[in-house]
Amino acid sequence: MFNGTKELALEPLFHYGDLRRKSTKANGFAGQDILSVSQFDRESLAYVFARAHEMRQMVETIGYADLLKGYVLACLFYEPSTRTSASFIAAMERLGGSVIPITQGVQFSSVAKGETLADTVRTLEQYADVIVLRHPEIGSARIAADYAGVPVINAGDGAGEHPTQALLDLFTIQEELGAIDGLKIAMVGDLRYGRTVHSLTKLLTLYDVSLRFVSPEILRLPLVLMNEVKDAGLDVRETHDVADVIETADVLYVTRVQKERFTDLAQYEEVKGYYEITAELMQRAKPKMIVMHPLPRVGEIHYAVDSDPRAAYFRQVRNGMYIRMALLAMVLGKA
Ligand code: ASP
Repeated sequence: MFNGTKELALEPLFHYGDLRRKSTKANGFAGQDILSVSQFDRESLAYVFARAHEMRQMVETIGYADLLKGYVLACLFYEPSTRTSASFIAAMERLGGSVIPITQGVQFSSVAKGETLADTVRTLEQYADVIVLRHPEIGSARIAADYAGVPVINAGDGAGEHPTQALLDLFTIQEELGAIDGLKIAMVGDLRYGRTVHSLTKLLTLYDVSLRFVSPEILRLPLVLMNEVKDAGLDVRETHDVADVIETADVLYVTRVQKERFTDLAQYEEVKGYYEITAELMQRAKPKMIVMHPLPRVGEIHYAVDSDPRAAYFRQVRNGMYIRMALLAMVLGKA
């Protein structure tokens, strides 16, 4: 389990009472769905990050708390997932709650018998206090939220959004580099279909950052998003060549080409190996910068880069658990 941390929890090093006291403040998210990053402003982001930081301290000291004891999370995943599903489960369990996991096994649920999303969520809310949903269609989380009487958290809706990933990405930048304003952030790879890029870009329009978008022509950032960035007045440039950004980037956010979103697989084959971040390339990067990736990687970052202290992608994975602990506690009115 948690290396005997449950015993330690009797005499916590972390003053959990502090978090409980904060929980009586209205955070604005109690009972709410989390569907899009558009729901957040700088103030609410600071609130989420402060709670996530506390979760990190709690996990690093005692490992476990009973804040969500008696609460049940239904995890409903219609698309593959490793990190998002596992981190939501770990988040709920580290806070003392329990999980109904319909993650790798949607094909064994009544979905396989043709049950609609609406009926599935109306069923799950009979058992659970919060539902986390991943679905291949844009807008599906919104539909589920319209039917469910309990909070729905969007864990990725097709090529649409992935708000909890964007929150953990931004939290990682803040934890690693100390601040977000003033940074030069380069996003590399599939900017067209990458939902994590879409959500993170939207959040970054709230900050004073320079953005560099690096992609092959057919995978450029959607125009509507590019216009949002420009309307926010950010310094923004697009390029095909990672060499144009490697020397100046504070954050290199690398993504996988989203094979599952291509209708023409020949087109995927043309662009799939377009970028490779190698140890040689990293020699040209700033000494203080970070490389991020929402994962899974399929060759975009060489294994040789993993031992570079600037490779932040596995620390980023861990931050996902802290952010999801904070969000679960917030929507359940406990933080
Ligand atoms: N895991 C991320 C997502 O679900 C990134 C990816 O799949 O490439 O969007």
